Amino acid sequence: MATHQPRAALPLLGQSLEALTEWVQAQGQPTYRGKQLYQWLYHQGARSLSDITVFPKAWRQAWEHVDVGRSALHHRVVASDDTVKYLLRLADGQIIETVGIPSAKRLTVCVSSQVGCPMACDFCATGKGGFVRNLGIHEIVDQVLTVQEDFGQRVSHIVFMGMGEPLLNSANAVAAIRCLNQDVGIGQRAMTLSTVGVPGRIRALAAEQLQVTLAVSLHASNQTQRLQLIPSAGAYPLSVLLDECREYVQLTGRRVTFEYILLAGLNDQPANAAELAQHLRGFQSHVNLIPYNPIDEADYQRPSEASIRAFVAELEARRIAVTVRYSRGLEENAACGQLRASRRPS
Ligand code: SAH
Repeated sequence: MATHQPRAALPLLGQSLEALTEWVQAQGQPTYRGKQLYQWLYHQGARSLSDITVFPKAWRQAWEHVDVGRSALHHRVVASDDTVKYLLRLADGQIIETVGIPSAKRLTVCVSSQVGCPMACDFCATGKGGFVRNLGIHEIVDQVLTVQEDFGQRVSHIVFMGMGEPLLNSANAVAAIRCLNQDVGIGQRAMTLSTVGVPGRIRALAAEQLQVTLAVSLHASNQTQRLQLIPSAGAYPLSVLLDECREYVQLTGRRVTFEYILLAGLNDQPANAAELAQHLRGFQSHVNLIPYNPIDEADYQRPSEASIRAFVAELEARRIAVTVRYSRGLEENAACGQLRASRRPS
């Protein structure tokens, strides 16, 4: 089985049963304590070794200071649609956002992969705030455990759609996916990784042979328009991105989701839908339209319901599979594109 972690390093969260067992042995403890540590870390909410009541008292005291790798809850806001936004404080004081999105049969967590984001997309609050650093494996896994524990309910779905560009932190994002799957017990098919595209990284992700859904933030139907919205598109033209996505489909046999933010009067015209359909003809894919969620730093507008419906109809007429994502948590700034670093709780 692929291990997802350098062995016996700290922090403990994010490590496999084998690595935790080695660590426990290195501390002079019997092997079975490794299994106990694993259970308590991933399923009993242990935040420090002193929480693990099955461990001998002397050991719990001696190892109280060991870095388990859990973040601290800095702030929590519940929106009227029951979406919960968490501001988590990391060990170095940085703040990240995570969103828990409950529905009748699901509990979805929207996880961050970086503190801030270097991609600087013009419509996204995270991008406007700049980039600080990549998240560690434990800092990604912690977000899911935090939501699970807070809701007192198993997390069923994970979307890498919080702060950051996961493919700029591929190694940790992939390791976190493996950990969340093997150790926390969430099916890879219930996970989606969203990327705006980083040259070569989609191909590399295919080689990981994961079963997660790949979502690609397209947002425009031609290179000129995409470049206006997404600065990184300059080094990664639309045609090259689409070719790499085609390769991904061939290598994995999995269909790709294309995310397309709808900005009134800009990229929401019937001609854009026709152009988009042209690119996606015969492509094993699915389009997810995201009506723009307002942010303070930009003055784009969300299109009317009528133009959203018209855009959908244009795509459907060309036999493109399409859905509309009505983001939740809007009024608490917990929706797509509204997450930002280091914002004080309002
Ligand atoms: N960096 C990754 C994941 C981040 S966000 C990516 O770009 O895919 C998840 C989705 O929300 C992306 O498709 C992103 O473009 C979109 N988004 C960003 N700002 C938004 C806004 N203001 N309104 C609606 N969607 C937005």
